[in-house]
Amino acid sequence: MREASPSAGTTGGDVLTLTAEGLYCPAGGFHIDPVRPVERALVTHGHADHARPGNGAVMASRETLDIMAIRYGEDFTGTRQEAVPGEAIRIGDVSVSFHPAGHVLGSMQVKIETANGTRVVVSGDYKRQADPTCAPFEPLACEVFVTEATFGLPVFRHPLVAEEIGKLLKSLSLFDGRTHLVGAYSLGKAQRVIAELRAAGYERTIYLHGALERLCSYYQAQGIDLGTLEPVGRRAKELAGEIVLCPPGQLADRWARRFGDPVTAVASGWVRVRARARQRGAELPLVISDHADWDDLRETVAETGAGEIWVTHGAEEALVHWCRQQGLAARPLNLIGYGDEGDAAEPAGNVEAADRAAGIGSTT
Ligand SMILES: [Zn+2]
Ligand SMILES: [Zn+2]
Repeated sequence: MREASPSAGTTGGDVLTLTAEGLYCPAGGFHIDPVRPVERALVTHGHADHARPGNGAVMASRETLDIMAIRYGEDFTGTRQEAVPGEAIRIGDVSVSFHPAGHVLGSMQVKIETANGTRVVVSGDYKRQADPTCAPFEPLACEVFVTEATFGLPVFRHPLVAEEIGKLLKSLSLFDGRTHLVGAYSLGKAQRVIAELRAAGYERTIYLHGALERLCSYYQAQGIDLGTLEPVGRRAKELAGEIVLCPPGQLADRWARRFGDPVTAVASGWVRVRARARQRGAELPLVISDHADWDDLRETVAETGAGEIWVTHGAEEALVHWCRQQGLAARPLNLIGYGDEGDAAEPAGNVEAADRAAGIGSTT
């Protein structure tokens, strides 16, 4: 089913339309990060809300193709095509190239250039902070920029990662008889937290919940040094004073109780808001995000030079409002189906109540 583009007749609307499956480029005959199976998909990165199985063909970075195979099995797509960063290829009547987004390993922005020279960049998810586990975001000049806005509110300003890692190490020295359980998503966040701990000089073995093992091994196989990692296995009782990483959902699970009296931490941009940190069971909130914060979103929008901004998953209205104040044409996309993994993941319940308590109930 194809719906009318909210921006028909605009520069971007001539290149991309909105369908029930997500963003579609009629001139190229492909979707970008479709939320339902399509014939031909271009995939920005491996998070489950952007990379789904069952498409006829997938074009993505080598790492994203690998990650999809790890998560969904080798038959995750009919055919696959590796996108070499920076290399333009022709698809239908448009030229397409992939460029680093700085979000997780292999994450890319997709740049589409039409025959008459219009450039549309779909950023996927991105961040501007340095990340030792992936290539940095590449600013791209374009006429139309499609941006995420996961943290598109002024309350979200991410501190330096080194400061947050310092809080964890300080707690570890103060409470050296307690296991430090750190909730971190399995693709990107877990590896970044580990790499930043290593950069801060932490050399001890770091222990992993089983759900994090495969992707940590993959990162290491790609040459990203994460130091010595071991599965928790049956040794929970012996891990007093050690750092253990697990998916955030495990912190409130029976699994966490085997560590006795652990210090619980969550590494997420959301824990910038105290109520959300409490709601996630985080005694020690670590504000570490793989998404651009409010300042970086605005700076990036300005840097692209784009006159037309399409805003997707997150606080769309606030960024749209800001763009319009700058004299840019901007519109929220209201795409359904994104925000199921990584920082974007939000438990369905109580989020609004937590926001009200924090005074950010209104996004407009
Ligand atoms: Zn993502
Ligand atoms: Zn996303």
